[in-house]
Amino acid sequence: MVMAAGSGLRLGRERPKQYQALAGLPMLRRTIDALRACPELRELQVVIGAGQDDLYDAATRGLELPPPVIGGATRQASVRRGLEALARRAPTHVLVHDAARPFASPALVGRVRQGLASARAVLPVLPVVDTLKRVDANGDVVAEMPRDGLGRAQTPQGFDFATLLLAHRRHADRDCTDDAGVVALDGVPVLAVAGEEENFKVTTEADMARAEALLARQPRRWISGSGFDVHAFAPGRPLVLCGITLPHDRGLAGHSDADVALHAVTDALLGGIAEGDIGSHFPPSDPRWRDVASAHFLHHATGLVRARGGRIEHVDLTIIGERPKIGPHRDTLRASLAGLLALDPGRVSVKATTTERLGFCGREEGLAAQATVSLSFPL
Ligand code: MG
Repeated sequence: MVMAAGSGLRLGRERPKQYQALAGLPMLRRTIDALRACPELRELQVVIGAGQDDLYDAATRGLELPPPVIGGATRQASVRRGLEALARRAPTHVLVHDAARPFASPALVGRVRQGLASARAVLPVLPVVDTLKRVDANGDVVAEMPRDGLGRAQTPQGFDFATLLLAHRRHADRDCTDDAGVVALDGVPVLAVAGEEENFKVTTEADMARAEALLARQPRRWISGSGFDVHAFAPGRPLVLCGITLPHDRGLAGHSDADVALHAVTDALLGGIAEGDIGSHFPPSDPRWRDVASAHFLHHATGLVRARGGRIEHVDLTIIGERPKIGPHRDTLRASLAGLLALDPGRVSVKATTTERLGFCGREEGLAAQATVSLSFPL
């Protein structure tokens, strides 16, 4: 069970922290993906805050999960609501995890799960290495605190389901910051297993930066996609390439603005995520796309790539035709394409070639374009 109900505005941004982007993906999505990599976990139930449905839908797009449970005013109330919802399915065990800990490893989950073979409550802990002091409101150190035997509690915490549900029902009026604390009120012994330093709770801006740095070190999966498109010339139409209208005596025929260059790049992006082609997303039979700027199609495809945590690493576009000569416009086209993709121009190449007057391009009946994109995704 993933607790994502906090309003979590401590980071001072406009949305709760569990929905903020971490290296391009909502934190909640990263937490869920980490748990989905754990073979011991059979079902995943997320508890969200009231009014967070849209954020939840965006963060879990494409995943098959049960509908979220809406939490209460406190973390403890939210956990209880989640447990009450799970009670219908009568699970034997439950692990309760904070959405703000996106780096729980399968090994950690395995230790917690294994601990449940002999204990009704299992808590991952880390040793306290710093010397502890009690500091008063004036900033004066008033006492030395022995750290022997102290541990820092993490999640996921594991429980015998009935034990945890009963404890939450009994102690709904108490204010506990974690679930091991709730069962401890019933005298249930809690088994400690080793936590993980990387399983830290993302709370401050510094934590966000640490999380981003960790993700930046993770290996990524590299994919390439290719696209090819052709449009015939037609009189009385503007010639649009890479979103720019070029001076020419003819334009390209097509349902949209017929930007053959952006169509090739869009198809390459869709190819990289195996999401069909431009025609399947924007059928020419649909009047909504009549004369529409092809940047619209490109933005749709880049949105699909980025929703998967994908990064566009490089784009290589070749425009094929005799006229107009692309050379004098190349830098303008490149800057426009880079801008539309929100990429550094150093990652965008625009090339041009003729077909030595052979074929339809050689006869100046139309223009062709082909594109190759390199994409990277989280593993
Ligand atoms: Mg086309």
